[in-house]
Amino acid sequence: MSKQIDSKLLPLLAAKSEPEWKRFYIKNKKKLEGMDLRVQALHDKVSSCTDCLKCANCCRSLGPRITDKDIERMAKALRMKAADIVKNYLRVDEDGDTVFQSMPCPFLGDDNYCSIYESRPKACREYPHTDRKRFYQIYNLSIKNASTCPIVYEVLEQLTKTIAP
Ligand code: SF4
Ligand code: SF4
Repeated sequence: MSKQIDSKLLPLLAAKSEPEWKRFYIKNKKKLEGMDLRVQALHDKVSSCTDCLKCANCCRSLGPRITDKDIERMAKALRMKAADIVKNYLRVDEDGDTVFQSMPCPFLGDDNYCSIYESRPKACREYPHTDRKRFYQIYNLSIKNASTCPIVYEVLEQLTKTIAP
């Protein structure tokens, strides 16, 4: 198992690699469209070596977009009314998206566990998106996410270093 990157170093490491990742994208844009399986395999390999409980960066800093279905699910789990979930925990941001009122997330514990894990929002389940279909569509978003998430950083590093330009 490779050593997990210290999350505090990520912004610096990601900034250093960003120009290379961007060059790779320009050269391999077409190739990337047919590479979902390869990226997913990298995601699986890197995720299996990453302990999210030692990180929790996404729960500390990125505000997931929350849907009406998420609100219903959270309300059920917390035995609260949906309206009270909205009032106590949520706000509408400048893009019109519903997000948590503040980050770190109110459901993140000191031990980095999510207290509503089974009922967490869909965006939390899907993060960091490196295993999704049509990865090429979120390649540039992933460059941004690499400064927060060690999984994304490693996937981009390994992807761009193992494929011939
Ligand atoms: S998904 Fe990424 S940012 Fe979130 S806890 Fe896991 S490694 Fe950290
Ligand atoms: S709901 Fe859970 S998984 Fe989502 S940001 Fe909060 S602590 Fe993290």
